[in-house]
Amino acid sequence: MSSLEIVQVPVLRDNYLYLIHEPSSGVTAAIDPAVAPEVHETLTARGWTLTHILNTHHHSDHVGANLALKAATGCTIVGPSADRDRIPGIDIALSDGDRYAFGAAEAVVFDVPGHTRGHIAWWFAGSAALFCGDTVFSIGCGRLFEGTPAQMWRSISRLRDLPEDTRIYCAHEYTASNIRFALSIEPTLPALLARAAEVEELRAAEQPTVPSTIRAERAANPFFRADDPILQRAVGMEGSDPAAVFGEVRSRKDRF
Ligand code: ZN
Ligand code: FE
Repeated sequence: MSSLEIVQVPVLRDNYLYLIHEPSSGVTAAIDPAVAPEVHETLTARGWTLTHILNTHHHSDHVGANLALKAATGCTIVGPSADRDRIPGIDIALSDGDRYAFGAAEAVVFDVPGHTRGHIAWWFAGSAALFCGDTVFSIGCGRLFEGTPAQMWRSISRLRDLPEDTRIYCAHEYTASNIRFALSIEPTLPALLARAAEVEELRAAEQPTVPSTIRAERAANPFFRADDPILQRAVGMEGSDPAAVFGEVRSRKDRF
């Protein structure tokens, strides 16, 4: 299986968009292109031609440049079937379990409702890469704008089951503030303290804290651990339904 070249491009205040390139076929995709100029600059710098846009969900900081990039390049836009009416310029709509051939690489699509009702995640197993939009962040998760805690907990539980070395290419640099919140709940969790130290060092050097990995998030992200007795005890909900624990932690974060 072919492996992808992945370029992370910081845009707007705290978004990341990604360009992925499959060298044997030459296809190149922009994942969640919020803006067009930085995409064009990156393409020019690499000598790549845009052939695809892969979207995770309909928010403007993820689809903002869809139409401009399609007009400029004629690229094919691929996004969530459940939200096809809200993805500008969509050509191909995919849903849970669909496999999408991207040159010689292949993505598996996960429906991950919660942040929005039609959110999908793209898993490139051959590159150990997950593009999850605003579903999972390092030490955090997306706000529940259109879904319930039970939906989001199920979505995250499914991503959590991917291989531990899978890198999580999320769409925002929120890690430092997520850690401040997580420490308010679990001030002594060793894996969280270790991640906090690592992130402090990265941010001091103006380096991204993304991608993370499934392994790292399983160890320290409270939103991955709603069924963990340690987290349940920390919020006074030992033995409760994980979806309820997840909802409690999410609502504390909303008020933090
Ligand atoms: Zn969003
Ligand atoms: Fe976003």
